[in-house]
Amino acid sequence: MSSTPRPSSSRVSATGYTPIGVDLGEKRLVAAAPADADPDEAFVIDGEPLRERYDILVEATEALQGAWFDTTRGEAQVFAAMHQQLRPQLFDAAHRLVRYAGEFATPLLVLEDLSFRGAPLWERRTVEKLGAWLLPALQGAITEVALDAGLPISYVDAEYTSQACHGCAKLGRLEDDVVVCTTDDCPVGAVCRDRSAALTIAGRAAD
Ligand SMILES: [Zn+2]
Repeated sequence: MSSTPRPSSSRVSATGYTPIGVDLGEKRLVAAAPADADPDEAFVIDGEPLRERYDILVEATEALQGAWFDTTRGEAQVFAAMHQQLRPQLFDAAHRLVRYAGEFATPLLVLEDLSFRGAPLWERRTVEKLGAWLLPALQGAITEVALDAGLPISYVDAEYTSQACHGCAKLGRLEDDVVVCTTDDCPVGAVCRDRSAALTIAGRAAD
């Protein structure tokens, strides 16, 4: 499910660009918005279809790993087949995001500066949570599609982006996928973490 973007006269950074913050995750593959957007109007891509396919991969791999004979080859085939199916979904999400950003004047895509160190995709296939595999792959697809489209990318500090209130930048209280701002004079209140993070990320590039 995605929301309808409503680009308007958004805040332009000192460099003349309109920063579009992008938050990546499992529940919502993508949440994107300029810094001064209403969080409810952020562009969102639901992660459920991809999660379902990933669960199938994990189940199949675990079943093979439970066998008494060597299943390395079978596991590799399952992983390769599933990767073939997941990859188009990642690129579809990347294309939709780039199209959304393209509706703004002189857009600048702002991503979190995430360091994806550690095991390669193959080793992460079941031992780590989906995010460990998904987020580097999704960020890679977005980077590739954005560069192809001539859309500039900027990276900002990822610290506390999904805990900070996008309105006052103070850390809020976390309740499931909601962050509750407790600052007295801040009007934000409770807000979806992913949507708020997109605004915060955009704001860090606009500063
Ligand atoms: Zn606040």
